[in-house]
Amino acid sequence: MKNNINRVVLVGTGYVGASYAFAMLNQGLAEELVLVDLNKDKAEGDAMDLCHGLPFVSTPTKIWFGDYSDCKDADIVVITAGANQKPGETRLDLVEKNTNIFKGIVSEVMKSGFDGIFMVATNPVDILTYATWKFSGLPKHRIIGSGTILDTARFRFLLSDYFSIDPRNVHAYIIGEHGDTELPVWSNANIGLKHISEFIEENENYAHEDLENIFVNVRDAAYQIINKKGATYYGIAMGLARLTKAILNNENSILTISAHLDGQYGESDVYIGVPAVINRDGIREIIELEISEDEKKKFKYSASVLKDIIKSANL
Ligand code: NAD
Repeated sequence: MKNNINRVVLVGTGYVGASYAFAMLNQGLAEELVLVDLNKDKAEGDAMDLCHGLPFVSTPTKIWFGDYSDCKDADIVVITAGANQKPGETRLDLVEKNTNIFKGIVSEVMKSGFDGIFMVATNPVDILTYATWKFSGLPKHRIIGSGTILDTARFRFLLSDYFSIDPRNVHAYIIGEHGDTELPVWSNANIGLKHISEFIEENENYAHEDLENIFVNVRDAAYQIINKKGATYYGIAMGLARLTKAILNNENSILTISAHLDGQYGESDVYIGVPAVINRDGIREIIELEISEDEKKKFKYSASVLKDIIKSANL
């Protein structure tokens, strides 16, 4: 870390990036926020627009439209830039396209002398987090993907809605790929200190059969939102702001993010969504849960899907 001023550089000021910048400003999380985008007009316009809200914030923040040289003194570089899947394109086409975009972005960031933490949200996020690790040459614990932070938030919200309990008291995780092979960790899903199956057994209004539906709604939430409004951005932006806060405030908070595994959950050489302790150094440690045999099988499958993509992308 270069000085006592917290600086975050955001690369990619599209829907997700701009929403993140707005959340950062409203929560007063960084003293300096720099916006970078290939579309310079968009980034410059966003910086101007956000600056006009400064008289109304509780914590002063300096925001400007910048370039990669600003990464030198940054604590965190957040990447939300990239291409979206177009009709007729396969997922692998998108991997190739965004991997190439990331090669350019990460090399520009590293050229500045950056020595902080990368946060990645661009999809497919687990693959691009792995690519960022490879391209940057930085230690694994300083590369963090948003992973299943959003899926876990959706899960906690839907469970809180079903059981009518504050989502902040729902402790339940989605792990695995941020995508179709992700899985809910029912074996460790608690409300307060009580396992959710106890809630179900004690109240005839609840049923185990409803749980599968809740998970399907979590897994398919992005498709539902994209069908309705074209993109999802507020939830992930708030998740990224939460992650930023955990890093800058050295919180040692547990969040489900995409982390590099070195034998945890029986896997290695893959970035995948797991609960981890996050602080000023990045990923302090991965929390290895006791999960059921069925969950182990599903997690293994999810990791194998990611590893196959990593292999075919030659990362
Ligand atoms: P968007 O198209 O609105 O924004 C992308 C931005 O990236 C654009 O402003 C574009 O100009 C910029 N960009 C493209 N190439 C660049 C380059 N080489 N250098 C700098 N900037 C460049 O897209 P969006 O809706 O903001 O989504 C961004 C990404 O976030 C997508 O990959 C999307 O799938 C992903 N996303 C992830 C999650 C998650 O949970 N991880 C959730 C929602 C969206």
